[in-house]
Amino acid sequence: MTPQRRVIVAEIMKTQGHISPTALARKVQADMPGVNASTIYRTLALLEEAGVLAHAHLEGGAEYHRTEDAGHVHLACSRCGAADNLSIDEAAALQKLIEQHHGFWPDLTHFAISGLCAECRRQVTAG
Ligand SMILES: [Zn+2]
Ligand SMILES: [Zn+2]
Ligand SMILES: [Zn+2]
Repeated sequence: MTPQRRVIVAEIMKTQGHISPTALARKVQADMPGVNASTIYRTLALLEEAGVLAHAHLEGGAEYHRTEDAGHVHLACSRCGAADNLSIDEAAALQKLIEQHHGFWPDLTHFAISGLCAECRRQVTAG
């Protein structure tokens, strides 16, 4: 492993929750100026192939989790950007419903569900 790649991996392992490729690039370049963004993207792709990372599509674009942290459904407020999570257990009823109607097994963790958070709903209905 090259020293550059070691810095990238260390930065990823330090991160709790999600990290976007651009946020990762910013952190890595702060530790080791001159690391190419394409090296960072390539490293993310390799780690995903190896099963260490998984990506999910959130309101701001694709973000990475460590695979063991990836088992939840993302809720994203399209008005204020607030993010919340549902556990897979909480989402199980919806998953079952989709499966029963269509025989389709949805991966609810892969794309965020967009909508309105409680606060935005209050504001919108108070209008
Ligand atoms: Zn994807
Ligand atoms: Zn997540
Ligand atoms: Zn909101």
